[in-house]
Amino acid sequence: MPSTPAAAARQILTRLQEVMASRTSAQAKLNKVVEIIGQSLSSEVCSIYLVREGVLELFATRGLKQEAVHVTRMAMGEGLVGLIATNVETLNLDEAASHPDYSYRPETGEELFHSFAGVPIVRRERAIGVLCVQHAEPRKYEEVEIEALQTVAMVMAELIANAELADDGPSDQRVTDTGTTMLHGLQLVMGMARGHAVFHQPRVHIEHTVAEDTEAERQRVISAFAKMREQIDRMTGAAEFGMEGEHQEVLETYKMFAYDEGWTRRINEAIDSGLTAEAAIERVQQRTRMRMRQIDDPLLSDRMHDLEDLANRLLRIVSGQLGTAAQMGLRQDAILIARNLGPAELLEYDRRRLKGVILEEGSLTAHVTIVARAMGVPVLGRVRDIRHLVNEGDLIQMDVNANALLIRPTADMEEAFDNKLHVTQKRRAEFVAMRDLPSVTADGQRVELMVNAGLREDAQALDMVGADGIGLFRTEFQFLVSATLPQREKQQRLYKDVLDAAGDRPVIFRTVDIGGDKALPYMQREDEELEDNPAMGWRALRLALDRDGLMKAQARALLEAAAGKVLHVMFPMVSEPWEYEEARALVEHQRLWLQERRKKLPIAVKYGAMLEVPALAEVLDILLPRLDFLSIGTNDLTQFLFAADRAHPRLAERYDWLSIAILRFLDRVVRTCKDYQVPVGVCGEMGGRTLEAMALVGLGIRRLSITPASVGPVKAMIRAIDAAELQALMRELLDGGARDIRARLTQWAVERNIELG
Ligand code: PEP
Ligand code: MG
Repeated sequence: MPSTPAAAARQILTRLQEVMASRTSAQAKLNKVVEIIGQSLSSEVCSIYLVREGVLELFATRGLKQEAVHVTRMAMGEGLVGLIATNVETLNLDEAASHPDYSYRPETGEELFHSFAGVPIVRRERAIGVLCVQHAEPRKYEEVEIEALQTVAMVMAELIANAELADDGPSDQRVTDTGTTMLHGLQLVMGMARGHAVFHQPRVHIEHTVAEDTEAERQRVISAFAKMREQIDRMTGAAEFGMEGEHQEVLETYKMFAYDEGWTRRINEAIDSGLTAEAAIERVQQRTRMRMRQIDDPLLSDRMHDLEDLANRLLRIVSGQLGTAAQMGLRQDAILIARNLGPAELLEYDRRRLKGVILEEGSLTAHVTIVARAMGVPVLGRVRDIRHLVNEGDLIQMDVNANALLIRPTADMEEAFDNKLHVTQKRRAEFVAMRDLPSVTADGQRVELMVNAGLREDAQALDMVGADGIGLFRTEFQFLVSATLPQREKQQRLYKDVLDAAGDRPVIFRTVDIGGDKALPYMQREDEELEDNPAMGWRALRLALDRDGLMKAQARALLEAAAGKVLHVMFPMVSEPWEYEEARALVEHQRLWLQERRKKLPIAVKYGAMLEVPALAEVLDILLPRLDFLSIGTNDLTQFLFAADRAHPRLAERYDWLSIAILRFLDRVVRTCKDYQVPVGVCGEMGGRTLEAMALVGLGIRRLSITPASVGPVKAMIRAIDAAELQALMRELLDGGARDIRARLTQWAVERNIELG
């Protein structure tokens, strides 16, 4: 046996390749394979077990009794072979019989052999068989031999799959993991959903493992590494343009791995052993996985996921399999699985088939969450490890309301889910029944309930839930779903359709808020413009005022679409009054321009600003007299108040919307608006949560713009409360510096039988 693993494996692979290319039956090939491996490793025994109908069957052997072939069968988990397959793990023993899992099979005559080494034959991360060697003399196999066996097993997987000898395809994905698993996460978008797991970035399937031209494979890896490093560098430089919304910390780790000499060296060694570039990357990954499994350290296992991600990225580059699941199309009801997603990426999916989303990261106010909420797609975030606990195609049940995720549910669980769904639908029907009832508190205070929208279809929600209008129309959604910058005419068509659907109810159009985590792929910036903190960077109104061509086109589109009606325009991320003035002047200029050309105009234009930047609160006396309305964007506002990135998964649950700091801030703003008699509303996600909405009403807020699904529950709450009593309680809590506002408000509601669901 040659002394380096590469040379040893290469020697075997060269011989195996001849066998694989020969025109004999699959069985004859397997018989040949066990001979070659046995000889090369000077092993008396070499056997191949394959999974057939869920059981491991001896398919070929050299050294054991031939009568045992196709007779000896082991269940998964049974004996050493079953253990290797179940754990997808290598075993190397000098005395097989002394292992607690050893299961003696007399028909094989294996009692003569003492040492035993076995490796799993893996396809799509599942064992489809086991390759093992046995030796009379009790000695452990050497590292080189084990390495060679593992490389051979990898090549065997290809032969076996091509010959369709073992269970393969979706059904074999359940080979090692048939159990039901229950997981929890962070409730991002409420709802229930059932569908089959689809990976946003599908795993690459390796078709060819043995190289024809080693040098060419080496070159492929070199250029794939160069491309990957370029991608990572670009992402680290501009986190907002990261395709998966990765965070800086993750990106730094990615970078460390991408430039890791050891990793490239190991891949090159695997290529030296005769593997293709794809197989070499996977081979190294398998080896790392096995090593990591022996180290029980959560920090390291996190890093392992990063490396898995990166290896998968490298595989996609090298194999040219670059597409996401959206580009391939969903074929059935799907639950999308991803580490993280950008809002534009989510919008690429077919809304009829996309039933739910599960993320390993995610936060409540990240735009992908907001988009999912707008699409009515339930999302569970921060589900650790999901990509490694579920197989593509597995059935998944999500009940975000109960914070429960079931992978591979049993029939009973499916039935229970259907029953619960039925109850939820009944409850929804109750909300629908409330659709035409006014949103008025028990003591007669009217609270306007409007909806947040962004897509053409969202306008239909108005009638469905009985809302008072659209309080926030995020115009940038149209930009996010387009492959190119939407032309003015296209924008105008959308605005007109939305206004038509709304009838005489108001629609508040917010001018484009792009930048931050809402990156437009067709508006890539120059390198020198990349930002460290995009959420606090050149975004929203800042960008729109500087690139005013975009804003002018949008203003024209809005004015023309609202001809004969009242147009409500609102500007995002206003930080100083002059920005508002400038934006308003720009729209007014377009209005005059149209007027001069005798175009039909809106009967009135109402101007509003979003309060998202805390500094604006200090200049309300200057701003308010110029405004028709103010809308508080609590998503951005709270991220800036607490200096906590709204998309950062670790901060997702750290600060409470019902913290005294936020509530006091809002209280001050509401009171100032009252002094100036300017209507003020809240349009952040906070207002869509029943308890938070209750607190806002308690602060004197009389207009909420929320996700359509929340209108029912929030209206039910409003109709049940006594606003004057609640306002007195809020005053007491804020003035008294209460630290447990959430608990106090919950208690108040529970005592009065007010539903918070
Ligand atoms: C907000 O910041 O609260 C808001 C409504 O705007 P967006 O979530 O689109 O940034
Ligand atoms: Mg905002």
